[in-house]
Amino acid sequence: MATLLQAKGFIVAEFDLVILGGGSGGYACALRGAQLGLSVALIEVDKLGGTCLHRGCIPTKALLHAGEIADGARDASHFGVNAQFLSMDMPAVNAYKDGVVSKLYKGLQGLIKSRNITYVQGHGRLVAKNTVEANGEKYVGKNVVLATGSYARSLPGLEIDGTKIMTSDHALTMDYVPASVIVLGGGVIGCEFASVWKSFGSEVRIIEALPHLVALEDESSSKQLERAFRKRKINFELGVRFSSATVTESGVSVKLEDGKEFSADLLLVAVGRGPVSANLGYEEQGIAMDRGYITVDNKCRTNVPGIWAVGDLIPTLQLAHVGFGEGILVAEEIAGLNPKPINYDGVPRITYSEPEVASVGLTTAQAKSRGYDVVELTYDLAGNGKAQILGTAGSVKLVSEKNGPVLGIHMVGARVGELLAEAQLIFNWEANADDVAPLIHAHPTLSEAMGEAHMALAGKPLHAHG
Ligand SMILES: Cc1cc2nc3c(=O)[nH]c(=O)nc-3n(C[C@H](O)[C@H](O)[C@H](O)COP(=O)(O)OP(=O)(O)OC[C@H]3O[C@@H](n4cnc5c(N)ncnc54)[C@H](O)[C@@H]3O)c2cc1C
Repeated sequence: MATLLQAKGFIVAEFDLVILGGGSGGYACALRGAQLGLSVALIEVDKLGGTCLHRGCIPTKALLHAGEIADGARDASHFGVNAQFLSMDMPAVNAYKDGVVSKLYKGLQGLIKSRNITYVQGHGRLVAKNTVEANGEKYVGKNVVLATGSYARSLPGLEIDGTKIMTSDHALTMDYVPASVIVLGGGVIGCEFASVWKSFGSEVRIIEALPHLVALEDESSSKQLERAFRKRKINFELGVRFSSATVTESGVSVKLEDGKEFSADLLLVAVGRGPVSANLGYEEQGIAMDRGYITVDNKCRTNVPGIWAVGDLIPTLQLAHVGFGEGILVAEEIAGLNPKPINYDGVPRITYSEPEVASVGLTTAQAKSRGYDVVELTYDLAGNGKAQILGTAGSVKLVSEKNGPVLGIHMVGARVGELLAEAQLIFNWEANADDVAPLIHAHPTLSEAMGEAHMALAGKPLHAHG
């Protein structure tokens, strides 16, 4: 239990663990810490659950699912179903989305309560190496975990007004479907919103400065997503930088550096997320940072003994499950369990657009640059029964060391995100194609494509040419 002390007019509470920020990273650390018998204070200024639950993963996936149903209605006749897509009822879509969020929010609040965690609603600030102050009270920790997350970035000269020029935070609360949208940024968040709006009936154009959409993925996945988006009539400009945006009476006009100009009802700025680290006392306590991110070692320790940092605040992959993993790692390290550092190559990554892009491990380019003798195998979903039933195109691509373990798995297609569970086991257990090939996959499932790819790489293709 925490100790309460009275010092110089402040209430001072002492804990094993004081956590600043109740998003994925912070609350996972709190839950695991409490499970391991540590006394924990969790300080959150807004809503427990953070970006992922309230403004990120969950609401976006609800919108994408609503979009999938809209597309299903549009394509119903292909499957012999008499149905018609009329329009989106955005208040009802939002009620569904908010219902999902609030159910999970309630569950999470109950979980935190049930673990005897001291939950503090308030703005926290690091006022000493072992102390966070919130609501005029001091919370002293043998360990302090910083988990203040990230915010949606903009570009110089691009003023977010929340109506015509907006970030994902605003896009998630819209009560109408815009006739046309420009999405600045073709990364994960940009592509997911482009997919949602296209499904909802908007004209969509993505502007991306890099040569490809989802440019961190294997180039083959990016190219397949581009092909699929072209087929869905999602427009995009690649390899060209944004120059300026002007709000007009009817919407927004966007100029690119190549001289092209596009207009639309609104502009979504999806150019990445920056760390929430300013004015929180981090610099004053001597915590090392790089461009606002807190730098840590492989156990999420900062340079200041007793201070740790997790989640979007540190320069690792900005994903909720990475935050969970880092929060758990820190709690276990503090409790003396000596957990293994996270292998970030082995973290599964998904873009939940239609089609989905999913991967784990190294891209071909990364594997080559690390000196591996690389072999590749691409299994086309055209040969997969379930993919034909669903009417999806795509592939499972394996990147492997010659006569060695699988180094990367890259997939494109409807629902391929669900195949990542197996892919991550294959990668993280350093399996060779020969180890996976004999495993029987249920028929007819998309997962057979995983089996078929490994069978083909092991030299015994079944439903594959060559
Ligand atoms: C549109 C969108 C879609 C996404 N989709 C996915 C997805 O599908 N899958 C996935 O894995 N990831 C997704 N992400 C990323 C994911 O949301 C983040 O990686 C994750 O939320 C990071 O967790 P965190 O705990 O580091 O930060 P956050 O979730 O941002 O939590 C930080 C918390 O700290 C609080 N805080 C900040 N300052 C203070 C302070 N001074 N005092 C008290 N509290 C403070 C904030 O209020 C916030 O609740 C998405 C993100 C966005 C924006």
